[in-house]
Amino acid sequence: MSERFRGIVVRFHGKTLIVKEELDGKHFECDMPGRFKRTKTKPLVGDIVEFTIESENKGIVQNILNRRNELSRPKIASVDQVILVTTLVKPEVSNYIVDKFLVLAEYSGLPIIIVLNKLDLLTSKDQLKEFSDVYSDYYTVIPTSAKTGENLNLLIEIFRNKISTMAGVTGVGKSSLLNGLNPGLKLKTTEISQKLGRGKHTTTRSELLEFNFGGYVADTPGFSTLELPDMKPEELQDYFVEIRAASEGCSFSNCSHIDEPGCHVKELLNDHSIKKSRYNSYIKLYNELKKKHRKKR
Ligand code: GDP
Ligand code: ZN
Repeated sequence: MSERFRGIVVRFHGKTLIVKEELDGKHFECDMPGRFKRTKTKPLVGDIVEFTIESENKGIVQNILNRRNELSRPKIASVDQVILVTTLVKPEVSNYIVDKFLVLAEYSGLPIIIVLNKLDLLTSKDQLKEFSDVYSDYYTVIPTSAKTGENLNLLIEIFRNKISTMAGVTGVGKSSLLNGLNPGLKLKTTEISQKLGRGKHTTTRSELLEFNFGGYVADTPGFSTLELPDMKPEELQDYFVEIRAASEGCSFSNCSHIDEPGCHVKELLNDHSIKKSRYNSYIKLYNELKKKHRKKR
């Protein structure tokens, strides 16, 4: 049996995979044996695979190793974390949009870091404090400026040696941040529709960009459709960390925290330990899911 090597799939090239060998960092163009096409588990970008070497820079994928998770948009395997980028000005991203991204990221089960970018455009310290008051009890919040470079050193430590996906609306500075961390890295910010991309398979697939300090980031932003997952309204609370925690104290085990008596979430809302904006987002998303659910029946 020929020797097996290990590497990470960084992108597709037509029908072949580009695999970066883990020890030397050399790239191999690998074919996939037919059995992968017949089974449900095909290698994805992000997968660690075993391969045999056929010639100087060509190989054959033999085996996929322990895939930890799988994201659908972008399609990528074994992601370590979601970096949610947002801003308070230019554009003014609402807490509701931030909360929606957080639900999508929590639903995917991945650790989340919040980056508040364009710090240089804030006119008072209160703006940052207000934002941190809402989120920093539950998430790491890193204020940055891609323009002045402030705190980009902290961001490097977040990205280092991990596989990350970035999320956030257009214009918040996702590609500027990446270029600030690693000049020359590029993020595709415009989504090419499936239809336009048909026949040009390379355009719709995401690939991993490699940081020069170690680690990878998917080249297409995650969750950009902002479409809620297919879940029951009752499930939503599982993806609001503080509501999920408080629900233990509600009188009814199936409390929706809307108008039931003995609701601990409502109590914590009254003494401000659950933030009003978070609760409002919960209610708004709850109603969205209810509407969606009703339409389906
Ligand atoms: P993306 O759509 O999230 O990738 O956002 P871009 O990186 O394309 O940035 C959108 C615009 O915001 C560009 O004009 C950037 O120059 C600008 N920008 C990005 N980061 C900052 C920042 O920290 N401060 C300021 N003032 N402008 C920024
Ligand atoms: Zn309740």
